[in-house]
Amino acid sequence: MFTLCGTGIGGGIVIGRARVLESRRFDIARYRVAEELRDAEQARLRRALGEVKADLAALADELPPEAPPEARALLEVHSMILDDPSLAEAALTLVQAQGWNAEWALSHQADELAEQFAGFEDPYLRERGRDVQQVTDRALKALAGMRARHGAGEPAIYVASDIAPGDMLALKSALGFAIDLGGTTSHTAILARSMNLPAVVGLGSASELIEDDDWLVLDGEAGVVIVAPDEPLLAEYRRRQAADLAEREKLLGLVSVPGDTRDGTRVELHANIELPEEAQQARDLGADGIGLFRSEFLFMNRRDLPAEDEQYEAYRAAVLAMRGKPVTIRTLDIGADKALEPPTAGLSPNPALGQRAIRFCLAEPEMFLAQLRAILRAAEHGPVRLLIPMLAHRHEIDHSLAMIAQAREQLRERGQHEGAGVPVGGMIEVPAAALSARLFLSRLDFLSIGTNDLIQYTLAIDRADHTVAPLYDPFHPAVLRLIAMTIREARRAGKPVSVCGEMAGEVDATRLLLGMGLQQFSMHTASLLPVKREVLQSDTRWLAPRVARLLRSDDPTRVSSAIRRLRENGPIGLSPVRP
Ligand code: PEP
Ligand code: MG
Repeated sequence: MFTLCGTGIGGGIVIGRARVLESRRFDIARYRVAEELRDAEQARLRRALGEVKADLAALADELPPEAPPEARALLEVHSMILDDPSLAEAALTLVQAQGWNAEWALSHQADELAEQFAGFEDPYLRERGRDVQQVTDRALKALAGMRARHGAGEPAIYVASDIAPGDMLALKSALGFAIDLGGTTSHTAILARSMNLPAVVGLGSASELIEDDDWLVLDGEAGVVIVAPDEPLLAEYRRRQAADLAEREKLLGLVSVPGDTRDGTRVELHANIELPEEAQQARDLGADGIGLFRSEFLFMNRRDLPAEDEQYEAYRAAVLAMRGKPVTIRTLDIGADKALEPPTAGLSPNPALGQRAIRFCLAEPEMFLAQLRAILRAAEHGPVRLLIPMLAHRHEIDHSLAMIAQAREQLRERGQHEGAGVPVGGMIEVPAAALSARLFLSRLDFLSIGTNDLIQYTLAIDRADHTVAPLYDPFHPAVLRLIAMTIREARRAGKPVSVCGEMAGEVDATRLLLGMGLQQFSMHTASLLPVKREVLQSDTRWLAPRVARLLRSDDPTRVSSAIRRLRENGPIGLSPVRP
């Protein structure tokens, strides 16, 4: 038994036998073709390309109406690549001019193209190089006389170095995918998500370490693949899987149920996203909006900064996907555990306390203005809220507001949409901000409590350091008081306040936060429905006095057990509990 770790794409747990797909790059025969045979060789290549095109068209035709829209789009992309003269025409020319055999000419041309794509900074364009390789592999298989794999076989977890979208869709017996390459924007990930199958990508060398017929446990949430699990572990995962499935089914019934508590308090449940394409899933799961778009992910894993237009398009995509529901875009929160490339914080003795987030943005006005303009422009397409991270000082708030005014002015001069009326909010992530909530509220339109950092800075525990992880206590009385104080001040000022740290997605904390008066939560999409169920079963009138009492205690043990009791006990005999 051994375990491989990668990036979990979600989809739950699956247990099954492995089917290892052959390596993406098999040996390619290279030989010269005599001049008089070159026309025939070209015809062989054209035939293979035609066969692949027909295969892709057949796959598109066979797509059921409920197939994800991405599926058809990806098949079209592959078909377009086949038509692109820089691949097919160029390879045909190589056959004629150089006398290379079809496989050699095609793979050479594909490698050239893929190399050009690999040079792009934009991760999306880099991924497209893999599409070229994937289409080419199909054509090479066709040249070798291999039929495309249409998976009518036994259900299995497919393991591959990489897998083309067309092949993925054809694997109708797939239980899940374990893939060596890819990240969250790879097509494998996009398709697995929309096919609703568990997947782990970025596994490194799974396709070499796993053998056909090995038993696998694939956990798409945790991003792990356990190979040849022993009987007790298998039994444990079977139990978890069954519970997980039953739970998901039940929870889906809540998607369009409004998040009202038993006593009729309307609670908004928003989603946190890192990339614009995640907005669609948030909407599908009934999110009331995007409560936190962590824009820094557009800036990471690349050597240049995304230009204003590139950012604008990303923000607009999220806004359009949410169809009128609000999208809260947080300005760049770079630094500490989220570094730019090359790292800007490399010289800081303590990056978490260094030039992070708004401090970095204010020191880089041109970059900040470009981001502000992109966010304000996106508001032309739907409701946008602008959120500033890591504020602690009054002058930081004032300076940020002045920069926003300047960005608006620049847009006005350009005759572009200036995002008038876009609310500006501040993150409450450091104790100084929580303790100055009134000041923040006098200058800002809303607050969002980032508990991840608020806990880190209140308790002086590095959230990324596993050696102190046991001390990272979200329910420490000091942390709870800072959260409660912020919520109370915002309510008093009549301004919206939300919690967007991980705590908002923890069902163990839902009642505690409701009892503090919180009516807006923002969380990872996977938590939306479990938290909604908890909200539906809660009664804020019952919770409020109990939470007020537990907040008066300084004893962490008593506080923890009081929080547990909020979930165990509760009013009975009120409205029936929905799913
Ligand atoms: C937080 O600190 O709680 C938060 C939401 O921001 P991040 O996790 O991105 O630092
Ligand atoms: Mg934070």
